[in-house]
Amino acid sequence: MRIVLLGPPGSGKGTQAIRLAQQLGIPQLSTGDMLRAAVSTGTSVGRKAEAVMESGGLVPDELVVEVVAQCILQPDAENGFILDGFPRTVAQARSLEDLLLAKQLNLDCVLELRVDEDVLLGRILNRAREAKINRHAVRVDDTEEALKVRLQEYRRRTEPLTDYYRSKGILRSVDGLQPINIVAASLLEAIARELCVPKIQARA
Ligand code: AMP
Repeated sequence: MRIVLLGPPGSGKGTQAIRLAQQLGIPQLSTGDMLRAAVSTGTSVGRKAEAVMESGGLVPDELVVEVVAQCILQPDAENGFILDGFPRTVAQARSLEDLLLAKQLNLDCVLELRVDEDVLLGRILNRAREAKINRHAVRVDDTEEALKVRLQEYRRRTEPLTDYYRSKGILRSVDGLQPINIVAASLLEAIARELCVPKIQARA
């Protein structure tokens, strides 16, 4: 099962991607996590990505595609994966198709979390506050300033992907403002509908 999870910053994409991955027994591939790891270990990708990530901008397509190409072709992704945070541009979506096509594979569905923009800032600032209280690392881009850029980038470069995937008939939208468990159940339902199975038995 090859799934893309789309949604603006603060929409709960990461939380839902982790849950879905556990329930479906396939890896969650988060480009944000991969890039943050690259920054903290100081790889050449990390050095190129660091400043733009801190500002809330998007890392150049070719850099992210390179990172994704390495992991979707790994043995642990053989039975599928959930892409969290990729693609974020139409060019990335096309590169993903090319990568999959080269292996005679395709995407099964694209799930979009719909959340009103005015709740996103509150959610992100809350996440930063909670991380601080729990002495977890606070993301450098969880600031009001960087969030503005992240939202602008989302609107300008990522939102067009919903039309792109809708026109391919594989987009399913879910209300991301519902409680976490309900969103998770709605996502599983959407996947089951897409795969034409009555229900997906989530793993314990
Ligand atoms: P995320 O953890 O998904 O919110 O991503 C954090 C940051 O990593 C983003 O604001 C971008 O700077 C960068 N990033 C993650 N995924 C991508 C992508 N697919 N394309 C470009 N930049 C990305």
